[in-house]
Amino acid sequence: MSNVTPMMAQYLEIKSAHADALLFYRMGDFYEMFFDDAVAAAEALDIALTKRGKHDGKDVPMCGVPVHSAEGYFLTLIRKGFRVAVCEQMESPAEARKRGAKSVVRREVVRLVTPGTLTEDSLLEARRHNFLAACAILRGDHALAWADISTGAFHVMPLSPARLGPELARLAPSELIVCDGTERDIAATAEDLGIPLTPLAPASFDSSSARHRLCALFSVGTLEGFGHFGRAELSAMGALVDYLDITQRGKLPLLRPPRRESAERVMQIDAATRRNLELTHALDGGRRGSLLAVIDRTVTPGGARLLERRLASPSRDLDEIHARLAAVDFAHAETALAADLRDHLRKCPDLDRALSRLALDRGGPRDLAAVRGGLEQARQIAALLAGQALPPLIAKAAEALAGFDTLPALLDAALIAEPPLTLRDGGYIAAGFDPELDEARKLRDEGRSVIASLQKRYNEATGVSSLKIRHNNVLGYFVETPATHASRMQAPPLSETFIHRQTTANQIRFTTVELSDLENRILNAGNRALEIERQQFGHLCARVLEQAAAIGEAARALAEIDLATALADLSHAEDWCRPEVDTSRAFAVEGGRHPVVEQGLRRQEGAPFIANDCDLSARDGAAIWLLTGPNMAGKSTFLRQNALIALLAQMGSHVPARSAHIGVVSQLFSRVGASDDLARGRSTFMVEMVETAAILNQADEHALVILDEIGRGTATYDGLSIAWATLEHLHDTNRCRALFATHYHELTALSGTLPGVENATIAVKEWQGAVIFLHEVRKGAADRSYGVQVAQLAGLPESVVERARVVLDALERGEHEGGAARAAIIDDLPLFSAAPPPAAPVPSASSPLAGMLDAVRPDELSPREALDLIYRMKEAT
Ligand code: ADP
Repeated sequence: MSNVTPMMAQYLEIKSAHADALLFYRMGDFYEMFFDDAVAAAEALDIALTKRGKHDGKDVPMCGVPVHSAEGYFLTLIRKGFRVAVCEQMESPAEARKRGAKSVVRREVVRLVTPGTLTEDSLLEARRHNFLAACAILRGDHALAWADISTGAFHVMPLSPARLGPELARLAPSELIVCDGTERDIAATAEDLGIPLTPLAPASFDSSSARHRLCALFSVGTLEGFGHFGRAELSAMGALVDYLDITQRGKLPLLRPPRRESAERVMQIDAATRRNLELTHALDGGRRGSLLAVIDRTVTPGGARLLERRLASPSRDLDEIHARLAAVDFAHAETALAADLRDHLRKCPDLDRALSRLALDRGGPRDLAAVRGGLEQARQIAALLAGQALPPLIAKAAEALAGFDTLPALLDAALIAEPPLTLRDGGYIAAGFDPELDEARKLRDEGRSVIASLQKRYNEATGVSSLKIRHNNVLGYFVETPATHASRMQAPPLSETFIHRQTTANQIRFTTVELSDLENRILNAGNRALEIERQQFGHLCARVLEQAAAIGEAARALAEIDLATALADLSHAEDWCRPEVDTSRAFAVEGGRHPVVEQGLRRQEGAPFIANDCDLSARDGAAIWLLTGPNMAGKSTFLRQNALIALLAQMGSHVPARSAHIGVVSQLFSRVGASDDLARGRSTFMVEMVETAAILNQADEHALVILDEIGRGTATYDGLSIAWATLEHLHDTNRCRALFATHYHELTALSGTLPGVENATIAVKEWQGAVIFLHEVRKGAADRSYGVQVAQLAGLPESVVERARVVLDALERGEHEGGAARAAIIDDLPLFSAAPPPAAPVPSASSPLAGMLDAVRPDELSPREALDLIYRMKEAT
């Protein structure tokens, strides 16, 4: 390092401590990057790569971004999978020079920007949570902790290894902290879900230091008050807090005390089911087309985040479900009040995120204004709710909203109406709030007139009307009188005030203590005003943070009210009903609808959505509907709508149906056949079987299972057998409620032997050889599959459709005869497109008889087959 410049030496030293991040090295108004960082950043950000000096005889690549627009660049880099270490100058160049001629400005990394630790509005989606999670394994015990530092939410959950995937899918954290050298499984699970991993040293996971860290964070002597945590849970929480300490450089965010969640209290839904049901994301990964997008009528970011959370974790706790439903019912009944509440909610800023930025010292005047605005609305909402008979959840919320009188009044007096985003230029503290600030501003703005009034005062005090206050670069401000007044000015009592500075040919110049004071103040007035504003900002922040816990509660209360009124609004607009939820194993839906498909149809102004009933109420054993019907009849839609109705009911919402009675569902499983899943580009049949195995191994009596075309990804007989055995297992072993859609008509026979299985079908009408979908679910089995008609609808060439009809005809006739003939035909199915199989003569399209004869090889016919053939030829004439 001998020939390295001091600055480069400093850079290399800091960089060596942050090898896994891009180092944004502050130089004046820019963040500069060097070496590989520069190459990577220039490409990722599409900015120019330049060079600066040499290192080890080679050019040093460099690129940079202006400090004021750095946030946008952070976002791009985070999205592209980078982490950023922000290195600031900790002193001015002048201060550095004081330490020694060759000293470099002291620099330190002040923050690591990672996907899970963002707080800026510009970097976050307002309506989504941004979770940071940590997974710990301690002597075989697993635990997951997660926090959203932009809202202060902090949770922990002990779990079995098998639950890790589903829980991660539920939370969808933006970053997962794991112990360095952790098991491959976790890495694979996270990768599968697209969650970036951050390995931390084992020391961060030490459970004893975790206890200390947590006690210090919450300023308590023991964690007992928050619950009894196992070592693995402590370890996960401790690692998370340690990581926050590392990334925020000691400035800890405002976390609420950890809340312990238990897997038993929420409906268990695994990743595949979530994807398949398109709960919070549509299959293409976006929010559009998801259930969340269709039901979201919240008007505040906090309400939207709560909705997403509830939808991702429907409850299994009957009291909780009933309490939430009661809140929605209240808002549903009190339409006028609900509308008023929503008017106020619309004006509510994002309290949670403003508060978290203030706590991290990253806040600005607008965050204070958000607190002011939020609390002001809170006060008005509390007033609206006062004196009403409220359901417990809303009553609790109303309580949390009351009692903020002094803080909003203080903020209102202190802040201008619409303060700027940043502190930099000042101007956010209102006039009249701080006399010193008013004075400073007055001096800054009206320096001249202040001087003029002082001059007037001096004129009167001295009786010298020609006395002037003037300014030059050498003396600054001074008092000047004509030399003729010299003796008067330089004798007591005036000489006590006027201190002689200079005598020129005609003038004599003085200064006064007051004037030099004034001068200093004028010169510094701008800076002084800024400084006072900053101090006031600090005071106000402190006042806000003193009440952080209560403000956080108020924010949650607003979200709760927002969600209840939003769901009530949805129920009115979409004509939903209140579900009856209990601990039975009922599942009776009348007039159920699929909210997303229904909305899609409405948009296209096509046919209306046909509502359908579903009754899977089970007493002792299983209750399974085996659904057959042609493709496009609406099987998948029916299956999914019933899963969604259960899910909505348990998140505490009304449901898209005429009536619904749901016995609490413990686990929800949904699987689609392999060919529906091609988009994911995997060995789809294998995936389907792995997922089916998971259901058969896990589903309990209170599970709801939705299986759509299972076994479709393999040869006919394989598929049929797998579907058959799966259905039997669900019936005999899992004994759950299930909807099973299949195109294997053979399965309908099972309803005769399995008492819990009922056949249902989706009605279609045939009209002039074409099929019309009625989308009506009825009891009974489909008589046929109408595949050829559907193919025709899809626009297959007429000749192909015609040929298919004929082939189908022949096959169906073979089926009537049963036994060997049928077996032979089914076995040969894959060959049909290549050549007509010998044992099953297929008539040609031109003339049925000629076709039959053409296909016959007499030498290969058994006497029985020859006789069959004659019968069939006779039929064909
Ligand atoms: P399948 O699973 O039987 O192939 P889908 O459930 O995918 O059929 O439904 C096919 C299309 O039929 C849907 O995209 C929708 O437009 C329409 N559809 C389904 N169910 C209904 C219904 N109940 N009412 C009206 N249209 C429906």
